[in-house]
Amino acid sequence: MNYYSTNGKAPIASLEKAVVKGLAEDKGLYMPENIKPLPKSFFDNIENLSFQEIAYTVADAFFGEDVDAESLKNIVYDTLAFDVPAVKVTDKIYSLELFHGPTLAFKDVGARFMARLLQYFLKKEGKGNVNVLVATSGDTGSAVANGFLGVDGIHVYVLYPKGKVSPIQECQFTTLGQNITAIEVDGVFDDCQALVKSAFIDDDLNAHMKLTSANSINVARFLPQSFYYFYAYAQMKKKGLADNLVACVPSGNFGNICSALFGKKMGLPIKRFIAANNANDIFFKYLQTGQYNPKPSVQTIANAMDVGDPSNFARIYNLYKKDHAAICADIAGATYSDEQIAETIKQVKAETGYVCDPHGACGYRALAEGLKDGETGFFLETAHPAKFKDTVDKILGESIEIPAKLAAFMKGQKQSIPMSKDFQEFKTFLLAQ
Ligand SMILES: *Cc1c(COP(=O)(O)O)cnc(C)c1O
Repeated sequence: MNYYSTNGKAPIASLEKAVVKGLAEDKGLYMPENIKPLPKSFFDNIENLSFQEIAYTVADAFFGEDVDAESLKNIVYDTLAFDVPAVKVTDKIYSLELFHGPTLAFKDVGARFMARLLQYFLKKEGKGNVNVLVATSGDTGSAVANGFLGVDGIHVYVLYPKGKVSPIQECQFTTLGQNITAIEVDGVFDDCQALVKSAFIDDDLNAHMKLTSANSINVARFLPQSFYYFYAYAQMKKKGLADNLVACVPSGNFGNICSALFGKKMGLPIKRFIAANNANDIFFKYLQTGQYNPKPSVQTIANAMDVGDPSNFARIYNLYKKDHAAICADIAGATYSDEQIAETIKQVKAETGYVCDPHGACGYRALAEGLKDGETGFFLETAHPAKFKDTVDKILGESIEIPAKLAAFMKGQKQSIPMSKDFQEFKTFLLAQ
């Protein structure tokens, strides 16, 4: 299948090119030319299928023309070696727990899928090693590092700001070894991003080594997130709760909810969506006014959603042919302050016993406030609360438990290379690799 750019000024690309390049030449985001509807028989029987079986059917619709069936099946089954259960919180509200992957982040699925798809294309073309550069403020680095861990032919360099990521997050990408190199930059996140951007456009470096990004706008990272929604529907259908189903998505860059909208175009019977924002309310304002006005992000306790110019808005806009009314018909919005998020974490724990992380709390609240008569909903719990332990402990006034999987990372030996924010030093380092 071919991919076109949301900006409409770049040549059509193959899947391979879209995955290796990430962004189109005109800085637009790649979109698949076709979104194939899935047959009614699939949805009639979906509750009897496993997560992997469902995901393979969805993956085949997107990638089946470009990847042979056996390889695609291997990629899907390797990526989804864990469950994402829909857990009852109240009679009307379920939590789809996306935090059962290797780093307890929903981004694990996209990162692993992309790593395996990139590896598939490198092998097929008999091409040499590729180097992935990724700048992180915390969560993306761990998901990408673990997704690419042990994938031969690909080396990952994770650049992170010294002293600015949580100890748990730092352990998740500095203790891995193998094909993962952590680089501790004496600067802030923007310095890390600037180093990566400079590297991508440096002629000497590009002549020396093959460089690529594992950015969240990559089609191989964002499309696989649609698997979650098909599987959630299957679980809700099994419980007899799939009529008038609402999905509520804590959103930052809007990749996750965008993949769900692709699912809806394929026939997934989710009635409507709610995009839950923290104080970064650009999309919420767009729904209200029809005006999209990006602005600098503000810092919140749900920091993975601190985005002032959500990149996947371009995909949603394209998918709905810029029709504001059509977008509003499928998606409602909500926005919450840090005080409201904290209040929600406290209240949900007191009333139901369930512990939300700050991102999931936005989702829970938007659903609790937005559900209409006769509707049932699920929100996406995008991170395990222990990943935001300091914040959640302080709000609840108790110490929440750290899952074994997370604790295991903290036992590893930290290994990272110190680096200044001066590009010349980074360049010299890479040229020596
Ligand atoms: C990345 C992230 C989000 C936002 O997802 P988008 O696809 O960027 O909208 C929400 N919660 C957590 C915990 C995240 O890491």
